[in-house]
Amino acid sequence: MPASTATHCPYCALQCGLTVRTGGVDPAVEPREFPTNRGGLCKKGWTSAELLSGTADRLRTPLMRERKGCPLRPVTWEAALHRVASELIRLRRVFGPDAVGVFGGGGLTNEKAYALGKFARVALGTSQIDYNGRFCMSSAAAAGTRAFGLDRGLPFPVTDLDNAEVVLLAGANVAETMPPFVGHLRGAVQIVIDPRRSATAGQAVAAGGWHLQPAPGTDLALALGMVHAAVTDGWLEKSYVDTRTSGFDDMWRLAASWWPERAERVTGVAAADIRTVVSLLACADRAYLLTARGIEQHASGTDTVQAFINLALALGLPGRAGSGFGTLTGQGNGQGGREHGQKADQLPGYRKLTDPAARAHVAGVWGVDPDSLPGPGRSAYELLDALGTPEGPQSLLVFGSNIAVSAPNVGHIRERLAALRLLVVADVVLSETAAMADVVFPVAQFAEEEGTLTNLEGRVLRRRRALPPPDGVRTDLEVLSGLARHLGQPADRFPADPREVFEELRAASAGGPADYAGITYERLDAAERTGGLHWPCPTVDHPGTPRLFLDRFAHPDGLARFVPVEAVGPAEPVDRTFPLYATTGRLLEHYQSGAQTRRVAELMDTTGEQFVDVHPDTAERSGLADGALTDVVSRRGRTLARVRCVPSMRLDTVFLPFHFPGRQSANLVTNPALDPVSRMPEFKVCAVRLEPIR
Ligand code: SF4
Repeated sequence: MPASTATHCPYCALQCGLTVRTGGVDPAVEPREFPTNRGGLCKKGWTSAELLSGTADRLRTPLMRERKGCPLRPVTWEAALHRVASELIRLRRVFGPDAVGVFGGGGLTNEKAYALGKFARVALGTSQIDYNGRFCMSSAAAAGTRAFGLDRGLPFPVTDLDNAEVVLLAGANVAETMPPFVGHLRGAVQIVIDPRRSATAGQAVAAGGWHLQPAPGTDLALALGMVHAAVTDGWLEKSYVDTRTSGFDDMWRLAASWWPERAERVTGVAAADIRTVVSLLACADRAYLLTARGIEQHASGTDTVQAFINLALALGLPGRAGSGFGTLTGQGNGQGGREHGQKADQLPGYRKLTDPAARAHVAGVWGVDPDSLPGPGRSAYELLDALGTPEGPQSLLVFGSNIAVSAPNVGHIRERLAALRLLVVADVVLSETAAMADVVFPVAQFAEEEGTLTNLEGRVLRRRRALPPPDGVRTDLEVLSGLARHLGQPADRFPADPREVFEELRAASAGGPADYAGITYERLDAAERTGGLHWPCPTVDHPGTPRLFLDRFAHPDGLARFVPVEAVGPAEPVDRTFPLYATTGRLLEHYQSGAQTRRVAELMDTTGEQFVDVHPDTAERSGLADGALTDVVSRRGRTLARVRCVPSMRLDTVFLPFHFPGRQSANLVTNPALDPVSRMPEFKVCAVRLEPIR
């Protein structure tokens, strides 16, 4: 029987509305009207039906290795669950509860993120849980919480951008990462900050906008120069600063020495351009400042976002109707994924794990003693770095993440994964991480399951099942429920039904910063055409909160905070041995580690192998021509890439996409230097050299 199911794209945080049609030869996908995409989809969304048609290596049965070195072989679910549970019990008995680590993902539904955090802390009793969102949004989340008292990527709907006059995009390449989003910027002058002429920067310039092209790792200095220009060129919104913020004087004590000419010397961006773009933002009635991974994935990522928030506050943008500050979340459930307890330091509802009242509330919902809940554990990279060491976890359970491609310094992390006594991976296909596992659970994918996601605007959406998973495949919730039973947990403590899990999540989040208490599946279904519900939504008759901060910010005094920050350069400067900066990013055709998109033929036909963008003069100096193969070498490793000569590249910079596996992984060279606040690794800049393959 032909059927149509309204759901959302399996990929990025824009969560475009799409319809899955079933009943034909193969499932088909088509776009539908939704506020974020207004009937558009990018190439990834259009081709997502291919994921449902059954790729050759779709997992359909659990796989298990008898022991290290043996091949993975099909086994029954009972055998796989029993093996994992008995090994976990043994490891906990010998090494203690923190011998078990858990690693989640920003693409997991809210229900799965919630269940995973609860499973780790209640069924396993471990503090060692974190997720790949630490590599994605953590700097922006930390800075937003510091400045506004609450982190919600966009505190306004994307449709507000339709009326913007000027939009500054700091480190965001939306033309490739979320093309339908660009439709919301058409009426605005765009200012793009990026060390390379990305597709977004090119489009902005073609439309009469601006591209500021700083040296990699100098965004913080650039932001300080912009703050200086805002204050000394007469653009400070004095009444806003006096009535809606605190901390200006302390912030200014550090920013006062960053006159635009000094920023020019550090960044390479002309002081006159710095002044001009600040004046454009200041003179617009409706201006927005948006950040993304380009400025956030640094060892100073939190302070860099903070500096841009300081600029936005100086200009009076956040919390002003028709203007604002926001960050563009990357992963499909990047927002919800960090709210419901899979983060090392958080409990559901965006509550702090160290807050006694939060522990008591959540423990009450879970029916456990608050004192039995472990404290905060290691952050993502620190957790991975400790795997298999005497002090670290001896086993790891991975849900919704492909660490063997996506972690920084990934050659080292592959060694740590190999050193584990037990690696368990739940995935749809045999990803690079699953291929290393001792036990693999085959799980359902986007249109085969029910649940909710929270997109980049804090908009909660329904994911709906259009077709059943293949025989032999279970949902992640069924896997957690089954494992919990084998670990001796009461039968009803870990339900496999997503609706039941969501009802529990509502109770656990009630009264917290991210309050979902008033959101139900029924309300979301009813609100599908108008665009879901934005949290906080504390009661079932509450309309949701599309716009935050219009009257007050979330700090107890209602004021936003200026925070003093000082510029530091990249953690790894270039030198004679490694004379070039490497920066990394995403492509139109691929998503994250590429585990899904590398299995879509149409996407691979366009971009099927790793490349490195290099200025033609830099290539020539390195003995390379367009199309040649080269190793890109850093202090940590080497990655294989085909040279693309791109005249708009800076002479000192090369660019690598991060979607490819094995020897082509960009993360073989990236630097795991961590931001001291967010624990974000410095994905976006490291020192490299090019070594031609002869
Ligand atoms: Fe929309 Fe993002 Fe999916 Fe593209 S990948 S269709 S922008 S949700």
